[in-house]
Amino acid sequence: MLDDILDHQRDVAEGPVWRPMPTAVRASFDAPLPLEPTPLADVHAEFCAKILPYGTGNTHPRFVGWVHGGGTLEGMLAEMLAAGMNSNLGGRDHAPVEVERQVVRWMAKLFGLPDDASGLLVAGTSMANFLAVVVAKVARLGIETRARGLGAEQTQLVAYASSATHSCVARAMELSGLGSDALRRIGVGADQRIDLADLRARVAEDRAAGLVPFLVVGNAGTVDVGAIDDLGALADFAKAESLWFHIDGAFGSLAVLSPALAPKLAGIERADSIACDFHKWAQVPYDAGLLMVRDPALHRQAFASEPSYLARDTRGLAAGQPWFTDFGVDLSRGFRALKVWFTLKTFGVHRLGEVIEATCAHARALAERIQRESKLELLAPVSLNIVCFHPRSATEADSERLVREIVIDLQESGIAAPSTTRINGKLAIRVAIVNHRYQRADNDVIVDAILARIA
Ligand SMILES: *Cc1c(COP(=O)(O)O)cnc(C)c1O
Repeated sequence: MLDDILDHQRDVAEGPVWRPMPTAVRASFDAPLPLEPTPLADVHAEFCAKILPYGTGNTHPRFVGWVHGGGTLEGMLAEMLAAGMNSNLGGRDHAPVEVERQVVRWMAKLFGLPDDASGLLVAGTSMANFLAVVVAKVARLGIETRARGLGAEQTQLVAYASSATHSCVARAMELSGLGSDALRRIGVGADQRIDLADLRARVAEDRAAGLVPFLVVGNAGTVDVGAIDDLGALADFAKAESLWFHIDGAFGSLAVLSPALAPKLAGIERADSIACDFHKWAQVPYDAGLLMVRDPALHRQAFASEPSYLARDTRGLAAGQPWFTDFGVDLSRGFRALKVWFTLKTFGVHRLGEVIEATCAHARALAERIQRESKLELLAPVSLNIVCFHPRSATEADSERLVREIVIDLQESGIAAPSTTRINGKLAIRVAIVNHRYQRADNDVIVDAILARIA
């Protein structure tokens, strides 16, 4: 099994990025519940025939849709070791917990947060953003709100984020009981960064209406174009207005790994909390998100509880405080930290930073090629690793139809897997270069394939 998956990874660039699943393969998943054992070799053979060929394709260099990471062999092997240990990192006294604590301390250092900042690994930035909203809410309302619930509160909390913010922030507001209407979508400039004047005006308006602004979410790499808000200015504003300053840094905040790119993130060190993903730009296999919180006491206050069956001790297996379960919603937690730890150690920060810089350089070169092509038009400036463009057409409807056809056709032909988004109302072909396997020549493969479809 190990040989097969290593071969698969070695040869991944030679196959299609993605292939549609044949009807018969899909139908075969409708088999009855297995009541009796099947030999491991047979189940593996079935995996090779029916599952492995029909993945999303994000290990392939030309998977450039959405923001998907490519993973590494080192990360894969660490996952195997972690599965072999089968550790539960909810708490207790064992080395895997120390591994996660070390990852958290390393990230505090990289982000410039205090050494004692708290953090924990979660499935992804969606979960990390949700936890951050809860921490900010409890920080504002006090720990009693955990028991009382929002129904007992006199204050109506409101939060702020640019209109380019990922939808999971609105969902975090829904899940936390505050409601997504209490998230004000602030306008953005042509560079897709938050409009600070609009932010200031909306906060003043809400205060005048008797509402209580409590949270501003900054973006370190918006999902559409990779725009980075003016984090320093947001930090100043949050401080002046006594707002919790959270940063959605899903992929962009990992630019701290690159000394050349890190200055773009100036101000990140002033955040009250940061959400990010190792499974995107840091090349760690899925899933591995991270929440960091500046003040560990405020973080713990939002979630900690100690029922009798989870009593802590100073010695024995029930020692090892603080427990990770006190910093989030999960009690049983896998050993995600090991693949992050292996990735940081085997590559080192400098090598990971170089990979991130290379993806940005490929994106700039791609944008230059697009600007040289008379049939294509760039739709947004390239601030990091994302390029949005569309075919120039007589009408907007023509262009939209072409964008849809081209993107689906590239995906179904297996040449590349870009996605789409809307930039200032225009449907765009969106190429996000995240995978370390992407090479400069892949730019031309993609553009040539697109031009061939424009006629
Ligand atoms: C990917 C992404 C998210 C969601 O992160 P998940 O790990 O998929 O949950 C949130 N915000 C931004 C900017 C993203 O790119």
